[in-house]
Amino acid sequence: MHRAIPAATAALFLLLSALGTASAATGAPAFADRFHDETLRVDYFHTGAAGEEIVALDRVHRQGTWAGSLVHLVDCLDLGRYLAVATDVASGEVIFSRGFDSYFGEWATTGPASEGVRRTYHESVLMPLPKAPIRFSLEARRADGTMAEVFAQEIDPAAVEVRRDPAPADAVVVEAAVAGDPHACLDIAILGEGYTAAEAGKFDRDVRRFAGILLGQEPFRSLSGRLSVRGVMVPSQQSGCDEPERGVHRNTALGCTFNSLGSERYLLTEDNRALREVAACVPYDVVSLMVNHTRYGGGGIYNLFNTFTSDNQWSPYVFVHEFGHGFAGLADEYYSSSTAYNDFYPRGVEPRERNITALLAPGGLKWGDLATPGAAAPTAWPKAEHDAADAVYQQRRGENTDLIAKLMRGGAPQAEVDAALAAGEELSLVHQQELDAWFAKTGLGGIVGAFEGAGYCSEGMYRAQLDCIMFTKGLKSFCAACTRGIREVAATYTE
Ligand SMILES: [Zn+2]
Repeated sequence: MHRAIPAATAALFLLLSALGTASAATGAPAFADRFHDETLRVDYFHTGAAGEEIVALDRVHRQGTWAGSLVHLVDCLDLGRYLAVATDVASGEVIFSRGFDSYFGEWATTGPASEGVRRTYHESVLMPLPKAPIRFSLEARRADGTMAEVFAQEIDPAAVEVRRDPAPADAVVVEAAVAGDPHACLDIAILGEGYTAAEAGKFDRDVRRFAGILLGQEPFRSLSGRLSVRGVMVPSQQSGCDEPERGVHRNTALGCTFNSLGSERYLLTEDNRALREVAACVPYDVVSLMVNHTRYGGGGIYNLFNTFTSDNQWSPYVFVHEFGHGFAGLADEYYSSSTAYNDFYPRGVEPRERNITALLAPGGLKWGDLATPGAAAPTAWPKAEHDAADAVYQQRRGENTDLIAKLMRGGAPQAEVDAALAAGEELSLVHQQELDAWFAKTGLGGIVGAFEGAGYCSEGMYRAQLDCIMFTKGLKSFCAACTRGIREVAATYTE
């Protein structure tokens, strides 16, 4: 029996058809026609330098229930520097695609990579388990924004080589907040890193603490009935993680390390296989690695993973900020900090990220419908004053960081190291308090416009509001552009 389609739904039907979006409304085959309710994980190695990349298949796995949507199967967001595509071999129809960023993609923008130094990174793509053979392909975004295929291989999900590894026997699972059916919920996995078996109780408390932080932050608070947070850890032999510049090397379950890509606070892991084996214990759409540590640091790569440390004064902020990267593909809105990237946002190209603009979007300001009536674009703000104060702070912060590394590598007395660490935290706190007071004094906090300075670029790149959790430290609000970007991505998991 056919149901009558209301006019509004019919309009949506036409819109979705025009966008080529797979949905029940488009008349595309239902999920159950194409897929089993299980997850297919495709592991591969991503190798190369700037301007060259080689992808080679590693292993294919079947694991657990499919956590993602049953209707949003073909990517409609167009975020990320890569796109994974599954095409049904028999019909030639694209049955699944997903945009993402990769560790390799960041490597390719570094100085050494531009000089031809090659590295290899292990990566995974998750999709629902197809019922028939697929052509699995990867597309990479070129400088002009268009996509080009860099890899393709046929995969038969029924092949005997497809692995079905049991979950790690020593995994600890914490169900901090379970909202319901994973297909209609945003499922977040928080993986414990650098927690020993004796610290399982701390892991449990930390997972629940950070679940509460995310669920208390808009726009996630509004999604609380559709947002699940589960924790998983396998015990690490030692607490903490690697800090190479400080001479600290630890044996931990997920291999997280500071100084990733040469950046002091950048906390990532290259041990993707270990990460995926642990994460497979729970259904997940997004994975955050919680590192049992007091040091400031983190990272977030769109649809790959996020990291944060558990016990720094800024940990709640770092968790939410990195989640913005990893979940919604938001850009950093800061621009003064030293980063390892060259050409992260090619000049003359409008970035895909929803929260920064080069003012090159067709049709005017990218978030023009959110802008404060009468606000000019660009929006005037006392940038020179901000930048002068920031330069002084960055200088002092750099000196403190160098001092800590020197003391620790040189085996200085612990009291001396602790004093330098405490001085660094105090410096950071006082700076942010002064900055927050300065923001308030400008009276520009409520304006949505185009503020110059964003995405590591001091000039020619703009953010929507004076401040945002993607700009400066503190458990503060997402700006209007970020908030909409998060809601847009969340809808692909919950609607
Ligand atoms: Zn923002």
